[in-house]
Parts: sequence; structure tokens; C-alpha cells
Amino acid sequence: MISLVNLNTFHINSSCKELIQIKKIEDIISFKERNIKDYYILGGGSNILLLDSIENVILKNELKGIQLLHQNNDNVILRIASGENWHDTVIYCINNNWCGIENLALIPGTVGGAPVQNIGAYGVEIKDFIYAVHGIDLVSGKEKTYLPTECQFAYRSSIFKTDLKNSFSSQRLN
Ligand SMILES: Cc1cc2nc3c(=O)[nH]c(=O)nc-3n(C[C@H](O)[C@H](O)[C@H](O)COP(=O)(O)OP(=O)(O)OC[C@H]3O[C@@H](n4cnc5c(N)ncnc54)[C@H](O)[C@@H]3O)c2cc1C
Repeated sequence: MISLVNLNTFHINSSCKELIQIKKIEDIISFKERNIKDYYILGGGSNILLLDSIENVILKNELKGIQLLHQNNDNVILRIASGENWHDTVIYCINNNWCGIENLALIPGTVGGAPVQNIGAYGVEIKDFIYAVHGIDLVSGKEKTYLPTECQFAYRSSIFKTDLKNSFSSQRLN
């Protein structure tokens, strides 16, 4: 069994039979080809409570990278891999003098976890800063992009937490 004690914020001494680290897109494709039905996507493990022993395969998101896609005097569009640490991403923006999401600093977790429950704090919600959520449909194996109007964002909720829970693996946010 593989310990998950350091992969969840509350350090619950949980373990699983198999842990797959997703470090590149091909890792998701390879996982999909194995046709495993019982799996769970893990980000930073800050919004979950784990059981002592987990039968499911755990997909640990470790996709990294930030790209600047567009910048003018008013706007910046970044492409951020979903395994990036959320707080570090906020600090990265602050250090570049890109303002907007600074109220969301110190929220634990990954970038990919952020749209799942539409993270928010001090009157700011991530839904107002998302250009698109890009990922892989784990049922069809195809890439898919969701525009904000398709994400069903609501208070601490989205389509990724409801209809698409555990069936869509976000890779990056634009
Ligand atoms: C001390 C503390 C303070 C917090 N403060 C706030 C706050 O102020 N505001 C707020 O909104 N939340 C807050 N949270 C909740 C939490 O930080 C957020 O919900 C965070 O976005 C979870 O991200 P994560 O990567 O840890 O997700 P996880 O806990 O790993 O996963 C949460 C859910 O998202 C799914 N998921 C994660 N990544 C992906 C992905 N790439 N693709 C598809 N599904 C995915 C998982 O399967 C799971 O269902 C707080 C939590 C803690 C422990």
C-alpha cells in the first residue's frame, strides 16, 4: 500500500493500492488506455477527507508550467497547468504586477482544484478570472475546453463538482 499522509492537507494517514503521478498529458492518455473504472483525481488534497484505506487508483496531478499567452495595458492571459500550486500562482501574478486574484492568496491546493468548487474569498471568486478550463474527458479520452459560460459556476460549485465529477481531468486554466 502507498501512503497518502503527505498528499492531503489534514495529513490523514490514508493509503491506496496504486498512485499514478500525472506529470505530462501522455500519462493521462496511458491511464485512460488501461480502462480502469475505480479511480480518484487528487489535487493538493485540501478539500477532501480520505478514508484509511482506498481501493481506487489515485491520479495525483503534478502537471506544471505557466505560459504568458497575451498581454496588453488592460489584460493578461496566462495558461497555467493544473498541478501548479494555487498560492504560488497568486504570488507569481503579484510579483508581475498583475492584479485581480490577490484576495485568493493562501487558499491551499492546486490550480486544477480552483475551478472545481469556484474558490472564493473576501468577495472575489475565481470564476471572474477564468478564460477557459482545458482538460481531458476521461470517458471519451478526448481533449475538451470549457468556457466560463459552460462551467455552471455557482457559490463553491461548478460542473466539475457535479455532472463532470471525476470524469473530466483539468490540465490547465487560461
Ligand atoms: C485551511 C484551508 C483553508 C481554505 N480556504 C478556502 C477559501 O478561503 N476559499 C475556498 O474557496 N476554499 C478554501 N479551502 C478549500 C480548498 O483549499 C479549495 O477547495 C481548493 O481549491 C482545493 O484544491 P485541491 O487541489 O487541494 O483539490 P483536492 O482537495 O485535491 O480535490 C478537491 C476536488 O477537486 C477534484 N479535482 C482536483 N483537481 C482536479 C483536476 N485537475 N481535474 C479534475 N478534478 C480535480 C478532486 O477530485 C476533488 O473532488 C480551504 C481549505 C483549507 C484546508
